[in-house]
Amino acid sequence: MSFTAIDRIPGIVAGLRYTFDQGVTRPESWRREQLTRLRDLLLERGADFERALFDDLGKAGTEAQLTEIGFLVAEIDHALAHLGRWLRTRRVGLPLALQPALGKVVPEPLGVVLVIAPWNYPLMLALSPVIGAIAAGNSVVIKPSELAPATAALISRLLPDTLDKRAVAVVEGAVPETTALLAERFDHIFYTGNGKVGRIVAHAAADNLTPVTLELGGKSPAYVDDSVPLDEAAKRLVWGKFMNVGQTCVAPDYVLGTRAVLTRLAPLLADAIHELYGSATQQNPDYGRVVNRAQFDRLVGYLGDGEAVVGGDYDAAELHIAPTVLTGVSREARVMQEEIFGPILPLVEVSDLDDALRFVTGRDKPLAAYVFSDDSAVRARWERETSSGALAFGVPVMHLTAPELPFGGVGESGMGAYHGELSFRVFSHEKAVLAKPLRPDTLAATVMPPYTAAKDGV
Ligand code: NAD
Repeated sequence: MSFTAIDRIPGIVAGLRYTFDQGVTRPESWRREQLTRLRDLLLERGADFERALFDDLGKAGTEAQLTEIGFLVAEIDHALAHLGRWLRTRRVGLPLALQPALGKVVPEPLGVVLVIAPWNYPLMLALSPVIGAIAAGNSVVIKPSELAPATAALISRLLPDTLDKRAVAVVEGAVPETTALLAERFDHIFYTGNGKVGRIVAHAAADNLTPVTLELGGKSPAYVDDSVPLDEAAKRLVWGKFMNVGQTCVAPDYVLGTRAVLTRLAPLLADAIHELYGSATQQNPDYGRVVNRAQFDRLVGYLGDGEAVVGGDYDAAELHIAPTVLTGVSREARVMQEEIFGPILPLVEVSDLDDALRFVTGRDKPLAAYVFSDDSAVRARWERETSSGALAFGVPVMHLTAPELPFGGVGESGMGAYHGELSFRVFSHEKAVLAKPLRPDTLAATVMPPYTAAKDGV
């Protein structure tokens, strides 16, 4: 992997700013053309992207299409279908005291924006924000994750030849390169990754008063009660947890339930794992691998925190950890303190719904919370009493495929949200425009001195 020379970074950013200042990125036609070219690239070079994702994460081709390539194509289609409306100037009503006058809100691009991406969905998370940035008319620098080197190299090789290289640049690198980027002034920084680096990004952004979006992670809980068909709940939990080998920011991190529910659920989770992935997961091409040795060692360290009902085996040579369900996990265990981000699903016993709600609200606000209950009173309590980036009933992960639903965290799970129209808004400034004729002169009689009793309360 060849990293971008650090001394080139200021020049790259200056070039993008020059392009933006020249107005290159503003015309709707330019934006549409870039988005269309990106769409074509994803479709034409799909096999290359699949191969890179396989090299980085052992990702199956179908999963790469569903969760990365196809997802991006759908986001682009949505943006192209709605861009005209998003760009429209919005007329607003004005208070009587201001009239006669016209008020409107005009979306304008922010300028030069930086997108920093993580390794777990290294294509989708690098390019999904870029769709919004281009739709909104910005220049953009993309910093893919060095921990998914094949995908980073492919993005870096293909994008500049596909998109307008005056306006879109890829900087390859790790901490030193990202640090050099963060020393530059941007008009927005969009970071996806962990909260520790999120804080570094926010600090650097503060120096230039740059707004940030932080898409972070955390421990997303799933709560299950006996009002739902537990076999179906188990299947969906297994699907949401073990896709991409558990390395999904919105994967259910752990399951909460009463002893009676968990006793019935545990074997059903094992059945669902066999149904979806078979018994020899190491040989199954639908099941990927852990990204690297450091993550592998961290995850293997959690296996002693409970008893494996299913899975528990691993192979360092192939960075394989079988889909694992742990029971008998204490609330204080390390696996319950840190985001797992791997194929280990602890089942944690609660005495009742109140206990589950207390457990979740006593911790950092998660990126997602999942509730499997057909009891409307139970659902209402989760909706009213807990806070999370998203709350989904009956299905994990899928909320991020709905362009009308904001995708983002709250508190420790992040700030800001995107997808669909919000991706456009994140990278736009909503400029207030007011136009008041100089005649008739209504202001002298209402708000200007000399103040008289008649002007009170205008
Ligand atoms: P990562 O290690 O790839 O880091 C993300 C980016 O930060 C990379 O581009 C990396 O080069 C850069 N970086 C790392 N250290 C840095 C430093 N000291 N200074 C400046 N830049 C630095 O990915 P990660 O953080 O391990 O990703 C996993 C985390 O991301 C998990 O917590 C997961 O939940 C979260 N995540 C969130 C979302 C979301 O949409 N909210 C999506 C995916 C992952």
